[in-house]
Amino acid sequence: MSDLNAFITGLPKAELHVHHVGSASPRIVAELASRHPDSGVPQDPEALREYFTFTDFAHFIEIYLSVVDLLRDAEDVRLLTYEIARDLARQQVRYAELTVTPFSSTTRGIPAEAFLEAIEDARVAAEKELDVVLRWTFDIPGEAGLPAAEETTRIATEMGPDGLISFGLGGPEIGVPRPQFKPYFDRAIAVGLHSVPHAGETTGPETVWDALTSLRAERIGHGTSSVRDPRLLEHLAEHRIPLEVCPTSNVATRAVEDLEAHPIRELVEAGVLVTVNSDDPPMFGTDLNTEYAIAARLLSLDAAGIAALARNAVRASFLDEGGKARLGEEIDAYLTEWGRSH
Ligand SMILES: [Zn+2]
Repeated sequence: MSDLNAFITGLPKAELHVHHVGSASPRIVAELASRHPDSGVPQDPEALREYFTFTDFAHFIEIYLSVVDLLRDAEDVRLLTYEIARDLARQQVRYAELTVTPFSSTTRGIPAEAFLEAIEDARVAAEKELDVVLRWTFDIPGEAGLPAAEETTRIATEMGPDGLISFGLGGPEIGVPRPQFKPYFDRAIAVGLHSVPHAGETTGPETVWDALTSLRAERIGHGTSSVRDPRLLEHLAEHRIPLEVCPTSNVATRAVEDLEAHPIRELVEAGVLVTVNSDDPPMFGTDLNTEYAIAARLLSLDAAGIAALARNAVRASFLDEGGKARLGEEIDAYLTEWGRSH
């Protein structure tokens, strides 16, 4: 392991863009599959590693849906959530805003009450036992249209659990215009939720503008195509609207050609508050530490620069001020300690 990789491995971090089902690692899927042997999903972690070897986007969707199908009752949901927290804690993630799609489970027959109880139970246990604080973003699966938007908004606004802090929009961007979701975001914002839609990943900067104007986005999921619109870059920088950048995901979904072509450097140079995140890590063969290492390479960062990137995520998070200060101090102390020994 190189020195900087070792630095990243031990660095306390916040993760702002990571999906619930998309975080199911082979280890977790094996556990779920053994609870449901009729699913046809391999139960052996070695066979699963093979199964998880990502070939293209269609394959990603296939794996993703097979995991969704393994979530058949509240105990499955609890297990997935708690085990994700364990994977995060191992990477020194202290705080994560996890994007959860309740509609995928309620539409498959898990009652919303039971679903919410399961994730909350896992959240409380993870905070106590694993020292990782989880918060939820409930997102509309855009491809499922307005009925899914209605159901997600109903759950978020009428049943929103303690851990819920924000409201999102995921799924494909092409053919799913953002403005149609304005009434749902208005309702979510009215009950105090933050607006964090995906935008400008596979479509152009106009989608980011739509997210800002129609959905009142406070942070943008991806937003990488903003780089094509200097006026938008200026707007994002001036209003301190952070981007949740996920480099490996962008390559896997072909939003960018390869890592060398990733616009992260231009975004940073334009003064945009950039955070680094992992999206659907095991399905894209990555994790948050790997994404930090990639960003460090693309941005030519040293340890202090990497620590600054970690602080960006704390700043861009919806953690309370006390929590932000504590995590910021923890990062600073880690950097100082590192400087003494290197
Ligand atoms: Zn995402």
